[in-house]
Amino acid sequence: MSAYDLIVIGGGPGGYVAAIRAAQLGMKVACVEGRGALGGTCLNVGCIPSKALLTSSAKYAELSHLSSHGIAVEGASVDLGAMMGRKHKIVGDLTKGIAFLFKKNGVDLIEGWASIPAAGQVKVGDDLHEARNILIATGSEPTPLPGIEIDEVDVLSSTGALSLGAVPEHLVVIGAGVIGLELGQVWARLGAKVTVVEYLDRVLPGIDGEIAKLAQRALSKRGLKFQLGRALKAVEKTSDGLTLTLDRVGKDKEELLEADKVLVAVGRRPVTRGLGLKHLGVEVNARGFIEVDGSFQTSVPGIYAIGDCIPGPMLAHKAEEDGVACVEMLAGLAGHVDYNTVPGVVYTDPEVASVGQTEEALKEAGIDYRVGKFAFMANSRARSTGETDGAVKVLAAADGKILGAHICGAHGGDLIAELVLAMTMGATVAEVAATCHAHPAMGEAVKEACLDAMGRAIHA
Ligand code: FAD
Repeated sequence: MSAYDLIVIGGGPGGYVAAIRAAQLGMKVACVEGRGALGGTCLNVGCIPSKALLTSSAKYAELSHLSSHGIAVEGASVDLGAMMGRKHKIVGDLTKGIAFLFKKNGVDLIEGWASIPAAGQVKVGDDLHEARNILIATGSEPTPLPGIEIDEVDVLSSTGALSLGAVPEHLVVIGAGVIGLELGQVWARLGAKVTVVEYLDRVLPGIDGEIAKLAQRALSKRGLKFQLGRALKAVEKTSDGLTLTLDRVGKDKEELLEADKVLVAVGRRPVTRGLGLKHLGVEVNARGFIEVDGSFQTSVPGIYAIGDCIPGPMLAHKAEEDGVACVEMLAGLAGHVDYNTVPGVVYTDPEVASVGQTEEALKEAGIDYRVGKFAFMANSRARSTGETDGAVKVLAAADGKILGAHICGAHGGDLIAELVLAMTMGATVAEVAATCHAHPAMGEAVKEACLDAMGRAIHA
């Protein structure tokens, strides 16, 4: 039996970052991972492979717009095998990079599936390891739809949709959230007809409604079809493909939709099975997420949890922040995550990025706020690149402090960083507006939106 200061269960962005930081802080650390590769969902079947395919497919799609630049491209075609090979190599290189970082920082990797027989003990296979503290970072998995069996051949989760061997003729995406829209756009760009079916009457639930509408309009322009207010009830395999039965929400009416692949992207749920949480007395909430206190400790002393398996945004950078804060507190340092300043990005074209409160949430909470907006159509850099869809929207308190920021537009995922920093520093719209922004740059739209919140926009 080997003794550790900390055993981390799960080698995703939450777990591996926590393990490395704990080792830097002088702890003797091991990380247990069962999937045979480090990096978790994010590196293996999430953020990284999806962004690799989004980039490859964007390059292909761009070719059809080059004629307006006076460039003719003939005979362009997609070699899906090569595209997938590129994605595979990126994933492989990055996951191996984490194994190298473990060696460099003295983190022991224990391969296998872990359980916790008792506080202070982690079992992997027949081996029992002792640890003063245990950190659960077991992440999440796709939420299935009742009665719909995912076979990863015709009925796909995000994992299957990242590895298709051919471009489907008609892909139906169930769920207009971040994963559905990103993967829907990948296959639409590569030539599939893509229909996005969403239960709600809007896309991107949780994102500011006005910005979500801009995103829907822009994605429709790029070929995605939307069927809102519909729920998938059944999938039937036929000789020609699939027949989906959709329920019109609140209308007592059914519709049939033919498809050759369906991607079920209705959300993710925490992974905690097999750990022995019930037996240990670790409390989970009604949706299965592990409950933790302000120091990420579960209801059992010495057992901590972070990332996708605890409540909060299910994002890689949030998991990393959790992990660092948790082990820094274990080491007696101050650790804190401000969940109000965790940005979220949808890497479609245009990108959708947001941080802080939405206008709907401010209205519901009865908070006095002002809005500043600036459309990329009036931004000279956007005009010169042709990326004029979308806008920046800033929500500020009466004293000017930024409460939320939402962007639909090219490079929105990078532009949001300025507003995340501003919120973290407690800056006002006046302070962002007083900051000199390079010209011509997309970032000028951020400055103008802040000026607009003060009633002083120059170019609108
Ligand atoms: P995970 O990454 O899920 O890692 C948990 C690890 O624990 C897994 O490797 C699992 O094998 C292991 N494990 C589980 N149980 C055990 C056990 N008992 N013993 C040993 N090992 C165990 N987020 C972003 O921020 N940006 C994005 O662009 C983005 N894109 C995404 C695209 C897709 C298609 C998907 C599916 C997700 C995406 N996400 C994105 C979400 C992101 O992947 C997750 O938020 C992030 O991976 C969570 O990190 P984690 O460490 O909490 O868990």
